[in-house]
Amino acid sequence: METTKFTLSEKEMPTSWYNVQADLPQPLPPLLHPGTHEPTVLPPSLFASELIKQESSTERFIEIPEELQQILHLWRPTPLYRAHRLEKALDTPAKIFYKYEGVSPVGSHKLNTAIVQAYYARQDGIKRLATETGAGQWGSALAMGCSFIGLECKVYMVRVSYNQKPYRRILMETFGATCIPSPSSDTQAGRDILSTDPDSSGSLGMAISEAVEDAMNRDDTYYALGSVLNHVLMHQTLIGLEVKKQIEKTGNYPDILVGCVGGGSNFAGTLLPFIPDKLKGREIQIIAVEPEACPTLTKGPDLYDFGDVAGLTPLMKMFTLGHTFVPPPVHAGGLRYHGMAPIICHLRRLGLIEARAEHQRSIFQSAEQFARAEGIVPAPEPAHAIKVIIDEALKCKESGETKTILLALSGHGHFDLASYDAYLSNKLTDYEYPHEKVEEALAKVPKV
Ligand SMILES: *Cc1c(COP(=O)(O)O)cnc(C)c1O
Repeated sequence: METTKFTLSEKEMPTSWYNVQADLPQPLPPLLHPGTHEPTVLPPSLFASELIKQESSTERFIEIPEELQQILHLWRPTPLYRAHRLEKALDTPAKIFYKYEGVSPVGSHKLNTAIVQAYYARQDGIKRLATETGAGQWGSALAMGCSFIGLECKVYMVRVSYNQKPYRRILMETFGATCIPSPSSDTQAGRDILSTDPDSSGSLGMAISEAVEDAMNRDDTYYALGSVLNHVLMHQTLIGLEVKKQIEKTGNYPDILVGCVGGGSNFAGTLLPFIPDKLKGREIQIIAVEPEACPTLTKGPDLYDFGDVAGLTPLMKMFTLGHTFVPPPVHAGGLRYHGMAPIICHLRRLGLIEARAEHQRSIFQSAEQFARAEGIVPAPEPAHAIKVIIDEALKCKESGETKTILLALSGHGHFDLASYDAYLSNKLTDYEYPHEKVEEALAKVPKV
């Protein structure tokens, strides 16, 4: 019988995170202060001291505290699967593997950092975390993280998702968090947006402004971000550290690695541990996939921009569509972010990764094909990556190459079935790249 599932023993589990900043051929551009444009660090009033240290650390491995390892072991290691049935369905000589983060209690990779951020906040004597969420995956991860660590949690959820996905809100509330739709009247940033656009569908940038303002106004509260920042990407490297050992057991090494990118954390978590090999000359093609409706890496210019719409965060050097850009309401809510993790942008600048954009109807078609072959209904976000691995596997069929393809499958789509319903009943529309709105937003990016 062919083996389809690869795991790790307790002893083989990573006990440290991998910090790519130790190995980058050129250092990352610094964060800049939003007012003075001088190099700065993350604001100590918003982030745990340990996370601020991790953000700019150049130590190669950072040890995971014992208590966190215990909690992480509740769902880690996550399985690596060989997609034998999908290979047969595609009639491809390619070997397809996928690393599945959907087995976490909240159904995605986001818990890998949520629990860590709650832990370090408590270490500083903090009682409460404020955050934003798009599709609700991050909010539910932080809600569970806070409940395990013993903190309160307030979540500002992008309004379009709040309305489309009530089950995510209920999950957050079950874990004891408070969840409200953003823009809200709880903050000045929210009230300002509502006064000019009372029907605003919201965006991640807006919700970030609200959560940051909430945390700034309270001494007992830190802010938590589910993606983008260096420390978040580092917490996710458990995915890639595990996958390297798991795929080694199969006697293979990936020729192609594919992941979806919203802020870049699941993709980075999977690929970063492969970067040292790539820098030593090992050939591995690394592909980031994003929505055609919010094509940051494929179409955005490389600029210093804010992480949020109100301009409260430090400026980050990244590919951006402009911090005031509101992406069309595609169903992959977790990919509707105007910018991209500075580390991912840096790798793109250095030519170490490439990027593609896909339309939502074709990604659901690929997700349906994957579900029927593998029995997992993927979240709409990783469905973008599934489209690309299927394309690559079909190229192998034409050329006869037996490439090894690795997919980062960041989560399941059990809370996204309404999106599948829209797809199955032929109600999905593809959004063209909104040129004019991007131009408008780019005009508002600060000149640095
Ligand atoms: C949030 C989310 C994403 C997008 O965020 P990244 O930081 O780019 O990983 C992708 N997939 C799933 C399942 C998510 O929950």
